[in-house]
Amino acid sequence: MNEREVRAENRNCDSLTGRLKAEARRLGFDLVGVAPAVVPPGYGRYLAWLEAGHDAGMAYLKRQSEPRGNPQRVLEGARSVVVVGLIYGRPEPVEPGPTQAKVARYARGSDYHEILWRRLESLLDWLKIEQPEVIGRAVCDTAPLLERDFARLGGLGWIGKNTCLIDRKAGSFTVLGSILVDIELEFDQPHESNHCGTCTRCLTACPTGAFVGPYELDARRCISYWTIEHKGPIPDGPAEKLADWVFGCDICQEVCPWNRKAPWGREPELEPRQEFRNPDLIEWLNRAPIEFRRGLKGTALARSKRSGLLRNAALILGTRQSVEAVPALIDRLSDDDPIVRGAAAWALGRIGATEAIGPLRDRLTDPDPSVSLASHRALERLEGN
Ligand code: SF4
Ligand code: SF4
Repeated sequence: MNEREVRAENRNCDSLTGRLKAEARRLGFDLVGVAPAVVPPGYGRYLAWLEAGHDAGMAYLKRQSEPRGNPQRVLEGARSVVVVGLIYGRPEPVEPGPTQAKVARYARGSDYHEILWRRLESLLDWLKIEQPEVIGRAVCDTAPLLERDFARLGGLGWIGKNTCLIDRKAGSFTVLGSILVDIELEFDQPHESNHCGTCTRCLTACPTGAFVGPYELDARRCISYWTIEHKGPIPDGPAEKLADWVFGCDICQEVCPWNRKAPWGREPELEPRQEFRNPDLIEWLNRAPIEFRRGLKGTALARSKRSGLLRNAALILGTRQSVEAVPALIDRLSDDDPIVRGAAAWALGRIGATEAIGPLRDRLTDPDPSVSLASHRALERLEGN
């Protein structure tokens, strides 16, 4: 904070809202603002996005579309939304080696949901001591709330062409959480200005052309969607475009000029774990399932589970035609998980590993039709060569 902001914060400290914000900062939040609990201004746009099918069929988004337009559905009697942000950006490790890949920055440390949740609960407890009659609810991806919209409304930043919330100082590598309360706090001015200007870096840098226009992301083309949200086999088109990303993708934020000088996050629990800085994909494929699952506990990567992560790992190695990965991929043809078996078959076909012909023939009678189909296609590529 600069001197003017500190003076303004001190002046505000007399009010409940000022003290609440000071408490939020004491708890370690980097950004805090207050918005009225109204219909979020971006709700119409959100509905149009769903209508266009840009949600890639994520069923929970459609199911929750109505409550997302009405904060009363999250907390009856809600009058204010306190929105907080935590910076997670950290210095980048060196580029991944030939058998390594990247994990999105937000997922390299402990699961931010748990960290944010604990702090939000503490903030709500503090408020209840100050105002015992207050009714509130903490939300961190745990209820249908258009958090980015409320963050903009609470003055935390603008929504950039890459659809991320951007603060001029903190940049966009931030995670958001909120508390809805049934009392009227002092509202911040909405962040009406937009500082993207004529810049289109994010739109042109996206390797899969996922932006159908500024502020319009089609999840069906987005690496983050395929590697995290999509369950089951990934079709050929997106499977070939995962590039270096085994979980999520940061490219449209990495290129954003507002992240160039953004400060690093201070939260120790979000410090990247060594194993998620450019993990080695062959080591992942070879790791015992029980040990692999244990390593995911308390991390955001648990959302993809072993199934999705090994699927992604196999597809990346296959696209890279990584011959070093062939023994591990042949082993995974007999994995208990059909998604992993199918991805291993796909990868072996791409690599052109003739030593895999026998094991792939064995999978032609796999009880899971997606595995037998992937093996059949892999054999077509191999035997056609
Ligand atoms: S996360 Fe990656 S794939 Fe998705 S829109 Fe951004 S740059 Fe494109
Ligand atoms: S890269 Fe440029 S256009 Fe995209 S969000 Fe950042 S400033 Fe806006």
